Amino acid sequence: MAKNKNVLDRRTLIKTLGLTVGATLVSPIVHATSDVSNKKSKKVLTVAHITDVHIRPEHDAPNRFKKCLKDIKKHKVDFFLNGGDTIYAADYGHIKRERVNEQWAIWKELRNDFSEYEVHSCLGNHDMWWAAPDKSDPMYGKDFVVKQLETPGRYYSFNKRNWHFIVLDSNNKNAGSLDEEQRKWLETDLAKLDDNSNILILSHYPIIGVNGGTHTDRNYITDLYYKHKDKKITCLSGHVHLLDSIVYNNVNYFCNGALSGFWWEDGNEKSGGKYWVKETPPGYAIINLFEDGTIENTYYPHSY
Ligand SMILES: [Zn+2]
Repeated sequence: MAKNKNVLDRRTLIKTLGLTVGATLVSPIVHATSDVSNKKSKKVLTVAHITDVHIRPEHDAPNRFKKCLKDIKKHKVDFFLNGGDTIYAADYGHIKRERVNEQWAIWKELRNDFSEYEVHSCLGNHDMWWAAPDKSDPMYGKDFVVKQLETPGRYYSFNKRNWHFIVLDSNNKNAGSLDEEQRKWLETDLAKLDDNSNILILSHYPIIGVNGGTHTDRNYITDLYYKHKDKKITCLSGHVHLLDSIVYNNVNYFCNGALSGFWWEDGNEKSGGKYWVKETPPGYAIINLFEDGTIENTYYPHSY
């Protein structure tokens, strides 16, 4: 009986508050891994999850991003998780060096606006410049992006309070996927943790998701997580610019839309509103992490 209750407690409760298609202002959308309304466990961290910022000079994107930042700061977050596709695009064959530099320069300038916060970023598929004249070019590929984002590497982990954070690099063969070296590292990183550890895993591509665009090696990853079923694992992603949440084998998967919405553009015939991608408005997530491994993930649509 007690065991059964535990499963129920950890089931995702979805409270969709007045999501009105076509409206400019949309209420926050709350996804939680337990009923937080009468919660006894202590909140230990509040984190902002921004993803798919796709910063670019066009469409007044930098100023609109600054407006979002102002709103995010009101939530008194401890730090930021940045889910990748930080710049609009460097990955297409026709992209020139100047264009790559231009986009990263905007990101660096904007970073000054919230330099008081740590930002833990992962690599998105659009961040890398593969069209560099040759592979020895300092701007070629992932190493350059790692430098721009000031991360310890293309994948890494760190601890805050009683939570362990893992940042993955999904950008490998048959993307999204993990390469062999990263698989070994992830297996070792998880194996080092105590039973019942609280874990938050950030990737650019969703590991599993409702709308496709997910990890092609999802079976390997879900099998690995199942080996660690004693632990409380939550996964965050972006990439598809859509909002969804899934529970599989008691692991929570939240795909938190896109800060840029429709890449800062107005949208298309499928957009539920101006700047939306299909049914998802542009926005960011504020995540409360509790001592007992549960989380409350709230997506805040913005209308900038
Ligand atoms: Zn992407």
